[in-house]
Amino acid sequence: MKVVYPGSFDPVTNGHLDIIKRAANIYEEVIVCLLINPRKNYLFDMDERIEMLEELLYDYDNIKIAKYSGLLIDFVEENNVDAIIRGIRAVSDYETELQLAQMNKFYSKKNIETLFMVAEPQYSYLSSSIVKEIASFNRDVSKLVPENVAKKIKSKFN
Ligand code: ADP
Repeated sequence: MKVVYPGSFDPVTNGHLDIIKRAANIYEEVIVCLLINPRKNYLFDMDERIEMLEELLYDYDNIKIAKYSGLLIDFVEENNVDAIIRGIRAVSDYETELQLAQMNKFYSKKNIETLFMVAEPQYSYLSSSIVKEIASFNRDVSKLVPENVAKKIKSKFN
């Protein structure tokens, strides 16, 4: 089974990585897909976000990184993806995720399923936005993101 794990990954956190690796233990192929959301202001541009992910995941044969500027369901159809993976941290994630999953199913020709993986408790408070906020006040985020990401964040805010 081939699954896609879509998101902004601005930047990738330990919570994202945990979901990616857990999914790769279950499914034959996991595509981490960076989607372009025109309503979002990114700290890292697309190439920087992809580079960080590639550095972290290059030795996993069944994990691929992709970018896409259209609708996720079009990516799903073009790449013969079997299901979408999303992470759930708390009840607050549930409401938006439910809406996204239902819309994706409704609009996809093959009624694409979204599968949810529950965040590990130690990552349930973790988000890319909180990491950026803390880092913007010159605090160390090296326990929240991988080393290469912590370094890049530091140089952004210096
Ligand atoms: P989006 O902009 O689509 O929310 P993100 O990059 O913030 O993209 O997140 C991508 C996916 O990862 C989402 O399903 C989100 O719920 C999940 N996620 C984010 N942070 C964590 C975490 N700490 N643990 C588990 N899943 C997470």
